[in-house]
Amino acid sequence: MDGLGIYLLLLLAIACGWLLGRVRRSSRRKRRPSHDVFSDYFVGLNYLLNDEPDEAIDTFINSLEATGDTPETHLALGALLRRRGKVDKAIKVHQALLARPDVSREFSDSTRLQLATDYISAGLLDRAERLLNDLLNEDTPAKWDALRHLITIYQTEKEWENAIACSTRLLTNSAFKRDAELRTAAAHYCCELAELRIAQNQYQAAKDQARRAFTFDRKHRRASMILVKVEHHFGNYAAALKELARIQSSSPEFTSQLLPQFEACYRHLGRMADYELLLHKFSQQVADVKLVLALAELKQSLYGNAAAAEFLAEKLREQPNLAAIVELLRLQAVDATITPDSATIELLQQVVHKMQQRKAAFRCHHCGYESRNLYWLCPSCKVWDKSKPITESDKT
Ligand SMILES: [Zn+2]
Repeated sequence: MDGLGIYLLLLLAIACGWLLGRVRRSSRRKRRPSHDVFSDYFVGLNYLLNDEPDEAIDTFINSLEATGDTPETHLALGALLRRRGKVDKAIKVHQALLARPDVSREFSDSTRLQLATDYISAGLLDRAERLLNDLLNEDTPAKWDALRHLITIYQTEKEWENAIACSTRLLTNSAFKRDAELRTAAAHYCCELAELRIAQNQYQAAKDQARRAFTFDRKHRRASMILVKVEHHFGNYAAALKELARIQSSSPEFTSQLLPQFEACYRHLGRMADYELLLHKFSQQVADVKLVLALAELKQSLYGNAAAAEFLAEKLREQPNLAAIVELLRLQAVDATITPDSATIELLQQVVHKMQQRKAAFRCHHCGYESRNLYWLCPSCKVWDKSKPITESDKT
């Protein structure tokens, strides 16, 4: 938006605020809900402010301070002040608003929510908590917003039981019932409690908390991982494997992260051949070199160096990969019975060559921007003549 556009919109919004204030005052006898007027005004304001420069906000603050006399303009002013980091001033504006005798109940609730947000911004969490709990106890329509703020506070303060209680209450509202973000967060609060229990060596209590997490989010990955830990601790390796399989099938991208637990369970059960089959299955599902390396390591321990080297060479023909090449070269170096083949060296040369081509050759000495071509004007920091070739000594 250009300067003139911003200016015109500012004028329009200020005029709207003034007009709406008048409309509201003249229509108060008709008991028009003040919320409509207020929300119209605020929506307009938000449209204007999104992605606008700070100067626009400051202009707005100045004009509101100079001309605003309605409660709505003061509420808007307070929010703007907070947005500009002037939290002390915002608190004063909102406290003065609460002291006014001419504001409606609904308006006073909105103001208290704003004041609580000010307190949160200022780090005065105790005060915010008290204010929000008052809103909750009074059972006002603002309680849903109050619950959201309280959850934020309890999360910051690591008061997990309180956070869970507020989440449970918020989820009774049909508007939030399917809020996936809220459910995931609530499940994480249970997991936090579960991990505290594990740290205290209370594995049964940890298991209860993990199960509680599933009541919020049936596919919660962290809760499943905690269950794996608990079942492993109790020696229920089959149960742990079942949980691991559940995580793997719902999040295949996490497969390589799960390998140590998979391996430990199969080892305890004495079923390493099954583990090998499983790794083969995974490596067909997910293209991850860590799976190939894990299989090579397993084959080395089960069948010896030659079998591992043969497997790696075969995998490399399908998909060249530096880590796999290095592992193959290592096997060839440590075991004289494995004859180094020229194909591996050739693959290595190709992969390294590709990596060199991808590598940046120039670096901006002003901002650190790296590029393959020389730019006289740095595309990142827009300073002339700072791009210089990267030398070997730069790389260390
Ligand atoms: Zn630069």
